[in-house]
Amino acid sequence: MTTAEQLLSWLGEEAPERMEELRREADRTRAEVVGDEVHLRGLIELSNRCQRSCLYCGLRAARRDLPRYRMSGLEVLRCARLAATLGCGTVVLQAGEDLSLSIEWLSRLIREIKGSLGVAVTLSLGELPLASYEGLRRAGADRVLLRFETSNRTLYERLHPPRPGEPVVDRVELLRELRGLGYEVGGGVIIGLPGQTLGSVADDLLLCRELDLDMVALGPYVAHPATPLGRHPPEAAVGQAPASAELTRRALCLARRLCPEANIPSTRALFEVDAGSHTGGLQSGANVVMINVTPPAEQRLYEIYPTREILDPVEVRASLVSSFERLGRVPGRGTGPRRLASAASMSLR
Ligand code: SAH
Ligand code: SF4
Repeated sequence: MTTAEQLLSWLGEEAPERMEELRREADRTRAEVVGDEVHLRGLIELSNRCQRSCLYCGLRAARRDLPRYRMSGLEVLRCARLAATLGCGTVVLQAGEDLSLSIEWLSRLIREIKGSLGVAVTLSLGELPLASYEGLRRAGADRVLLRFETSNRTLYERLHPPRPGEPVVDRVELLRELRGLGYEVGGGVIIGLPGQTLGSVADDLLLCRELDLDMVALGPYVAHPATPLGRHPPEAAVGQAPASAELTRRALCLARRLCPEANIPSTRALFEVDAGSHTGGLQSGANVVMINVTPPAEQRLYEIYPTREILDPVEVRASLVSSFERLGRVPGRGTGPRRLASAASMSLR
């Protein structure tokens, strides 16, 4: 049983040989429990409209200088088709928290995507009412990705204020309810948020285990100059967790130890701060990569944080596949659901 103290000591470890030991262990666990397949997910950023004002995010409602868009059903379908052609077994429908997105429209879209392409659908749409999630589940949505962002309640409520006039939604509780609806659930945090300590990251990881998450998404904080947190970062406190590739990779290794069966992506934010490569993440316990299939014009406006460049999805896939060969990995087949350890160990050679 890994304790908070042990996690904290790994997160703050300074000896490179100990870190290499941690990385090897995570890679071994990943290979034994979920295998060498890397599941590709097609990310569709269908709307950058958002009614919230998270202090770290470039899509926040209070940001007036960002032109807003919402894709049409046909545009989303075109993206989904591209994702399927690239071998993505899952499409992720992501957007700002836009409560005016109609559940009927989303339901039709989900039915169409699943019916015509046979891929799984993951929703990353924020804190929709439970009844909406219920409807979308009936339409065939398979998974929900909803990061709880940080397990530190005070920090969470400060950086992720509720919609004006509404109570705080407990994302952890919502994840539990979503599991009850039959969804596979994914959560996770931002690593290195100003005000987050290494101890808090240790608690975050323990919470991922406690929730028995099917997917664990961890990415570094990337400051956006058009946000309050990016413009006026507080002075770094004692024990502040750095928003670094190194700490994110450590957290990935520990997530693989704590949640061995989970699908763990090497996130785009890690790619941004890790010299434009997914190799470090894939060697630190990750077994999933997302390919952004959003058209360039919309992708440019989906500015959660400033990104280095818009990448051509066909080229991204080609470069991923050649890196898989170097790493002894293979592109995943099928929809890549969470594989239970018992099933995984039966298929181990
Ligand atoms: N609106 C939805 C989904 C889109 S945001 C939601 O909030 O769940 C997707 C994720 O982007 C968020 O969960 C958050 O973890 C991440 N994010 C937002 N701003 C970020 C930043 N500045 N640096 C790193 N990650 C960020
Ligand atoms: Fe909106 Fe999600 Fe960004 Fe918060 S993190 S401002 S909910 S898009």
